[in-house]
Amino acid sequence: MFEVKPLPFAKDALEPYMSQETLDYHYGKHYKTYVETLNRLIAGTEFENLSLEEIIQKTYQKPEYQAIFNNAAQAWNHEFFWSVLSPGGGGEPKGKLGARISKQFGSYEKFCETFKQAAVSQFGSGWAWVIDNGDKLEIVKTANADTPIARGQKPIMTVDVWEHAYYLDFQNRRADFVSSFLDNLAKWPNE
Ligand code: MN
Repeated sequence: MFEVKPLPFAKDALEPYMSQETLDYHYGKHYKTYVETLNRLIAGTEFENLSLEEIIQKTYQKPEYQAIFNNAAQAWNHEFFWSVLSPGGGGEPKGKLGARISKQFGSYEKFCETFKQAAVSQFGSGWAWVIDNGDKLEIVKTANADTPIARGQKPIMTVDVWEHAYYLDFQNRRADFVSSFLDNLAKWPNE
C-alpha cells in the first residue's frame, strides 16, 4: 500500500504563482486518485510489495499492465514534482549545477528557452524534464504518464504540463506557466 505523501509545503505557500485552489485539485484529487487507484490495482498481485520505481520498470511497455504503469508513474512523477517546487524558488541554480548548465547550454537563459520549448511543444498532456546522465544534462519531454524512471534515468527537475497543473491559474497559457515555474518555484538540487 502506498501512502498519499504530505506536500512538502503549505497549500497556499506557492501563491500567487500556484494557487491553493490548483493544489486542492492537483494534490487533493488528481495525485490522491493515482495513489488510491494504484493500491486497488496492485492488491493481491506480484506488484504489491514492490517500490514505485520497481513497479514502473516492470510494467513499462507491457500492454497488459498499462493501467498499473500509468498510476504508478503518475504517483512517482507527482511526488517528484512536489519535491522540486518551493516558495522562494526559481532562478539560476548556484554552484556546480549552475556552472554545468551554463557550460552545456551556453547560458542559463538559453537553458530556459530550450526547457520551455520542450514543455510547450509536448502535444497534449505530459511532462518536461532535466535528466542528469552523469557526463551530460539532457532536456526531454514525455507524454501522459511516461517517466524517465521507466528507463532507469535520473531526473533532477520536472514540470507537469497536464492542463490540470495550470489551467486554474494560467488558463491556456502553458508557456507563461512554465516561465513562472522557472522564475518563481523551481527548486534545484544543491551540488
Ligand atoms: Mn499532474
